[in-house]
Amino acid sequence: NIRVRFCPSPTGNPHVGLVRTALFNWAFARHNQGTMVFRIEDTDAARDSEESYQQLLDSLRWLGLDWDEGPEIGGPHAPYRQSQRMDIYKDVADKLLAGGHAYPCYCTTEELDERREAARAAGRPSGYDGHCRDLTDEQKAAYEAEGRTPIVRFRMPDEPITFTDLVRGELTFTPENVPDYGILRANGAPLYTLVNPVDDALMEITHVLRGEDLLSSTPRQIALYKALIELGVAKEIPAFGHLPYVMGEGNKKLSKRDPQASLNLYRERGFLPEGLLNYLSLLGWSFSADQDLFTVPEMVEKFDIADVNANPARFDLKKAESINADHIRRLDVKAFAEACEPWLRAPHAPWAPEDFDRAAWEAIAPHAQTRLTVLSDITANVDFLFLPEPVFDQASWDKAMKGEPAALLTTVREKLDAADWSDPESLKNAVLAAGEAHGLKLGKAQAPVRVAVTGRTVGLPLFESLEILGKEKTLARIDAALA
Ligand code: GLU
Repeated sequence: NIRVRFCPSPTGNPHVGLVRTALFNWAFARHNQGTMVFRIEDTDAARDSEESYQQLLDSLRWLGLDWDEGPEIGGPHAPYRQSQRMDIYKDVADKLLAGGHAYPCYCTTEELDERREAARAAGRPSGYDGHCRDLTDEQKAAYEAEGRTPIVRFRMPDEPITFTDLVRGELTFTPENVPDYGILRANGAPLYTLVNPVDDALMEITHVLRGEDLLSSTPRQIALYKALIELGVAKEIPAFGHLPYVMGEGNKKLSKRDPQASLNLYRERGFLPEGLLNYLSLLGWSFSADQDLFTVPEMVEKFDIADVNANPARFDLKKAESINADHIRRLDVKAFAEACEPWLRAPHAPWAPEDFDRAAWEAIAPHAQTRLTVLSDITANVDFLFLPEPVFDQASWDKAMKGEPAALLTTVREKLDAADWSDPESLKNAVLAAGEAHGLKLGKAQAPVRVAVTGRTVGLPLFESLEILGKEKTLARIDAALA
């Protein structure tokens, strides 16, 4: 049985790298009928926050990613918040110490820095030099007598560590590149280096899929796992797969602080969860050589970690938007209308709630659906229907009114007054005829009409818009423009 985990630390806002990791784990679990474990790594009280934790839960739910074991639903390895598992880590650390796999290290930061500098200057490896590895009881007692409180360090084996990364193939780390490392702080608090593999072991994780930034901790964790197996705490070393970096602007690693990386931003702009997941799944994986558009179930059906590419993936906002637009178009009209709801209300919508007209909205929705990149675009596209007066932007107005269109608008008004308002074709013919009377093609003739009625030079199909706005309001707006 395949068991994967998603184990974020609740710091800051969720970002796209995090979601990509969650998605790949989830798709891998679902494809293999495995188990998705959601664990919260909140052992860093200074940085973790409850708000960030709630946001994580909320974001995953919004995306539609679910879990089989974890916070709020529990499971056989509960609790799933590390802050509630401190006794477990203490116990394992004691076992590691007793078994000789870990040792107290009394070196101060200053001493470590000094020796690191010296090693660098001499061209030797600058990691921890093993100073406290084999202290005698007398030496330890002497340090304690000086008032030093030790950290606990894990003793790395003296031979290289080789493993087969599910994405990158076989990798070898030599001992000089993976020195002994701290697992407990001087105050006894356990570090990520300990709690993460301990929980993976106890929760019987079979596959660790995570970002490439964590690749350097893998040889340490494998060594720790071997010790845990010896101590009877772990059964088997999991397989590891490291997902490629995501590169942002200027080919730099997309940082979590990059505004483009913020998940909330995509949500607020009105990305559909399926549009965003579709795009994020392309960061390191591909559906097929000639198809970039697919649903989440289609992705799950095809997903194989062996198909993930080790090369850095490039984050391309334009492409994300275009995929989202495709997903918007694929919705049935009712679902589309519903998805837009949040943007038709305050604080997004500038009109008064009582001016919202549901019938008009339902009539215009199909025309809007094919034109949106993100759902938040809907507000500006339909505000002319619900505001008492259109919002004029001066530049559009000046541009459309350049040729002194008063004479044209007067004719348009006459013809529209006589048109059949139940048929957009009739409205189009009215504007067409008015244009002809002034030697103007339809495109030129309709521009000032659009600006007079909607306030903008571009927008939804004009004649359907006029029909839905209605004769009375349309003519009143043309009158206002002529006044
Ligand atoms: N809590 C770690 C992080 O958010 C998890 C890393 C891992 O997947 O091992 O970076």
